[in-house]
Amino acid sequence: MPDETALAPRVSTRRGTMHATVCPHDCPSVCALEVEKLDERTIGRVNGAEAHGYTAGVVCAKVARYAERIHHPERLTRPLRRVGAKGEGRFAPVSWDEALDEIASRFRDAAARHGSEAVWPYFFAGTMGLVQRDGINRLRHAMKYSGMDKTICTWIVQAGWLAGTGRQSGVDPREVAESDMVVMWGGNPVATQVNFMTHVARARKERGARFWVVDPYRTPTAQVADHHLMLRPGTDGALACAVMHVLFAEGMADRDYLARHTDDPAGLETHLASRTPEWAAGITGLDVEDIRAFARAYGRTDRAFIRVGYGFSRSRNGASMVHAVSCLPAVGGKWRHRGGGALWNFGAAYRWDKTLIEGLDLRDKSIRVFDMSRLGAILDNDPADLRGGPPVTAMLVQNVNPMNVCPDLNKVRRGFMRDDLFVAVHEQFMTDTAAMADIVLPATMFLEHDDVYQAGGHATIQVGRKLVEAPGECRSNHRVICDLAARLGAEHPGFRMTEMEIIDATLRASGWPGADAVVEGRWLDATPPFETAHFLDGFGHPGGRFRFRPDWKALGPWGARMPEWPDFHDIVERPSAEHPFRMLAPPARNFLNTSFTETPGSLKREGRPGVMIHPEDARDADIATGDRVTLGNARGRVTLEARVFDGVQRGVLVVESIWPNRHFPEGLGINALVGDDPAPPNGGAVFHDTHVWIRPAASGKE
Ligand code: SF4
Repeated sequence: MPDETALAPRVSTRRGTMHATVCPHDCPSVCALEVEKLDERTIGRVNGAEAHGYTAGVVCAKVARYAERIHHPERLTRPLRRVGAKGEGRFAPVSWDEALDEIASRFRDAAARHGSEAVWPYFFAGTMGLVQRDGINRLRHAMKYSGMDKTICTWIVQAGWLAGTGRQSGVDPREVAESDMVVMWGGNPVATQVNFMTHVARARKERGARFWVVDPYRTPTAQVADHHLMLRPGTDGALACAVMHVLFAEGMADRDYLARHTDDPAGLETHLASRTPEWAAGITGLDVEDIRAFARAYGRTDRAFIRVGYGFSRSRNGASMVHAVSCLPAVGGKWRHRGGGALWNFGAAYRWDKTLIEGLDLRDKSIRVFDMSRLGAILDNDPADLRGGPPVTAMLVQNVNPMNVCPDLNKVRRGFMRDDLFVAVHEQFMTDTAAMADIVLPATMFLEHDDVYQAGGHATIQVGRKLVEAPGECRSNHRVICDLAARLGAEHPGFRMTEMEIIDATLRASGWPGADAVVEGRWLDATPPFETAHFLDGFGHPGGRFRFRPDWKALGPWGARMPEWPDFHDIVERPSAEHPFRMLAPPARNFLNTSFTETPGSLKREGRPGVMIHPEDARDADIATGDRVTLGNARGRVTLEARVFDGVQRGVLVVESIWPNRHFPEGLGINALVGDDPAPPNGGAVFHDTHVWIRPAASGKE
């Protein structure tokens, strides 16, 4: 096992000592960090590790300011019990024993009354550490509590990527430095994975690479691009089809590659014959010549790299759009070339055996599994969601803030207000979800516990050791799960092991060196070799060919709703006379979902919630920058500040998010407007697919 010498200071500084660790937040970069330790309880500076090839010495501003988050005076430091009405936010301190005893007792009562499925542990990616994030599943499986599909972020893009490639893998992003054309499709890395921009900058400086951005609004990333294709939301599939049409029509399709590595290039070419740039221009709102110029630039550049973002997947037709974009490097044969191809995520590189972490050996497949994005409907006792089972009457929530991040927040709030629902929330701050709880438990942050991390935007395994003591009575997720297991009589070896013992055993069971080797080496590079990363030794389907005609039915229960070929899949929530605008809710630069919405630096930089609106739409609606406006639809209403902005098409509204509910007069944030219907083929939340109206708030019409 790694001993304390692994924590020995690596670099002396004037004030403190610098220590190696890793960023735990829900971001593809998973930066290798150097954190300054000032004393046993205090940190100073946070830097990116220079020696890590992808981090390359860079971190985002919100994590560089981490001292203000970890030492925030409003951190939860004691267990609390609700003393006011539900949601009122009045609590009184209790001891850990009292709090844990009450949770265990309420869970036992719920199971005795309705069966074990009445208890629903609920979690997501507030930390990306595998032990602290996923250990809650060990308790779930040991106790036969209801299951949870983690649909909210990745399931749409994952289905779209796997449809064609068959494997969650791609090109090493460090190869971008050798690209001649880089396309950021549906993502804003300046705000959400700043390190990618380092590698783009290298390619631009050293090779004169051209940087293209495809995004429905002029993000900070689009502002620094050479070309920005500002298309209508939900129309990326049409753009991708038109690009492929031009590649075939103008002799830029790699027919040799297509014949050897794809399923049905002739069928695709026939299908695309009518998907011209003129056709796509009508759907996307782009200029025909801009589409053609993009297609020709892509077709003529061997080393063309597409970074597939998450943003454009968050739509009812998201999976089909991701699949259509993933077809481009196959049609153009870009996978053959260094600096060419595409990347979404490296999930397959890690081959984890998570039996110990998640208690997978205890899993009973007859237990129902809920879609986490349908939280409101589930707590509303929607019979289809409950699947004939009992209502949920007890929950443990870790690492997630569903009262902000879930779709259809009015429904979610109604559910949490139910008198017959007991909720325990283990959190770092009094989030909107914690405020709805019956018991609130104080949680550690990443520098206060041990964990192991994988990256999505590069292929690295890192171990982050505890660096400082937590304030007050904070406990790690792992400890709370083990404490509850002991009270509930749950049995599994993982409940009797330390975090580091689980990390070490999991690494070894997964075929990696043990934890001591990873700590000593700072990180473990799991990047697949070139032939594998570029799928030259085969795509992930039987037969090894890229699929232009995916087997969508194998990818989820709504596969029959998917188009046979890459296409414009017209199932979005369309604007109508009553709801003439389409609204996007992309991440604000200084928030990460809701992880940084308490820190003063982030709040100061973001100012207040606002909606971007095209100047002509603003003029027609008699709206000016700074006006209070209300957005609404059948699901709810949200009032915020207008910002007139020419970086969107007409009919598009952008609300950078996610602001806590207290910033809105209605008491709920932007996701009150977002639908919770699952995107085909496999579910997932459609945060950028919302039709709304907009009115001046002072008009009295709202
Ligand atoms: S860029 Fe992402 S991984 Fe890196 S420090 Fe910021 S939040 Fe963490």
